[in-house]
Amino acid sequence: MKLDIIGDIHGCFTEFKKLTELLGYDWEEGIPIHKQGRKLAFVGDLTDRGPQSLKVIEIIYELTVTRKEAYYVPGNHCNKLYRFFKGNKVQITHGLETTVAEYESLPKGEQQEIKQKFIELYEKAPLYQQLDKGRLVIAHAGIRGDYIGKFNSKVKTFVLYGDITGEKHPDGSPVRLDWAMHYRGKPCIVYGHTPVRAVRVLHNTYNIDTGAVFGGKLSALRYPEKEIVSVPSSLPFVAEKFKEL
Ligand code: MN
Repeated sequence: MKLDIIGDIHGCFTEFKKLTELLGYDWEEGIPIHKQGRKLAFVGDLTDRGPQSLKVIEIIYELTVTRKEAYYVPGNHCNKLYRFFKGNKVQITHGLETTVAEYESLPKGEQQEIKQKFIELYEKAPLYQQLDKGRLVIAHAGIRGDYIGKFNSKVKTFVLYGDITGEKHPDGSPVRLDWAMHYRGKPCIVYGHTPVRAVRVLHNTYNIDTGAVFGGKLSALRYPEKEIVSVPSSLPFVAEKFKEL
């Protein structure tokens, strides 16, 4: 199984297209296809903050649901957009406002179409992917070793939001514990969620969210090669969004 696992895209379609081209995919059919049969996988957070969230949904729906050629797991932003589309009361903040603005600028018929696609993509996705006979796990915010194979509500919170304690920093952001530091499991874990300036590799875990939407890079991890491939972001750099490690 040969995969290219893509970090948090957050509507950065241009960067996504460039990255897949660099990885050897061609877009002749309007979606990225690899001639040697490599497949794409996504750590979630497809939308919000960036300029082309709906376009990213279209492409990943086509790859994952229609063609079953890619793997996707939801992120916390995906979860919130899903709840918005299902008619729940959610706060239109933290970047969701850009996705909702794109959505509301569409004619009603197209709104319905993209909404249905995203709902289907989300509902068909597992909380996390166990691939390559369990040797690889893809989870948006990572996963503790003892949670692999479990699918309860604690596991759901962990894979969407990380190892949160319920406490908050003075700036209001949630306190997140560093689960990767303590990870001693065998499977390779690939995740995103917390923007870092460069892919963070620790105890067979890979944080590939290099903050494309905050002016960093969009990164991919090639598996099983474990090579990192990145393209620079076209957006302005927002230093305070990156976690210093
Ligand atoms: Mn994210």
